[in-house]
Amino acid sequence: MSTVRIHPSVDDGIKAGDDNFQGGTLACHCTQEQVTVQVDAQTAHNHACGCSKCWKPQGATFSVVAVVPRDKVSVTANAHKLKVVDEAATIQRHACSGCGVHMYGRIENREHAFYGLDFIHTELSPQTGWSAPGFAAFVSSIIETGTPPAQMAAIRARLRELGLEPYDCLSPTLMDAISTHVAKARGLLPA
Ligand SMILES: [Zn+2]
Ligand SMILES: [Zn+2]
Repeated sequence: MSTVRIHPSVDDGIKAGDDNFQGGTLACHCTQEQVTVQVDAQTAHNHACGCSKCWKPQGATFSVVAVVPRDKVSVTANAHKLKVVDEAATIQRHACSGCGVHMYGRIENREHAFYGLDFIHTELSPQTGWSAPGFAAFVSSIIETGTPPAQMAAIRARLRELGLEPYDCLSPTLMDAISTHVAKARGLLPA
């Protein structure tokens, strides 16, 4: 087994999602007064993310984060503990003020290509069947949080071995979606 650590949910190999899975619950790491979130949909675009803003568990190099429609996400307990980590960020990450776990990230800018989607970490769920991660985004950004550049070749090789193609931005599918959104807003492509 590889000694390169990516994230605990993928280091032993990636478990396939269940095509019939329809959602579940997320819980923060507090032992009392847990914040819980109900998600009434399967996730999409699940991926490993190397940016410095996504929540990741202790010792992980990457976060693992996916999207669901925002109207499928509801806080079901202890909402009063949630605080937005950075009000100025594109994605407003609602974190538990007790344990620091991000319960969901929401885009409030209606002009944004991903408006309407919330970002969640399905490792917070006791259920299995959530969609599996399919690529790795913002890989070079892990250097910004202290990964020595000399380790990058081994990390990219391990990501490929896991089937998580490494990109230094988002995947081509998502980068194309962003650019398409911009072209439509400019009237250069049919809406
Ligand atoms: Zn908590
Ligand atoms: Zn990220």
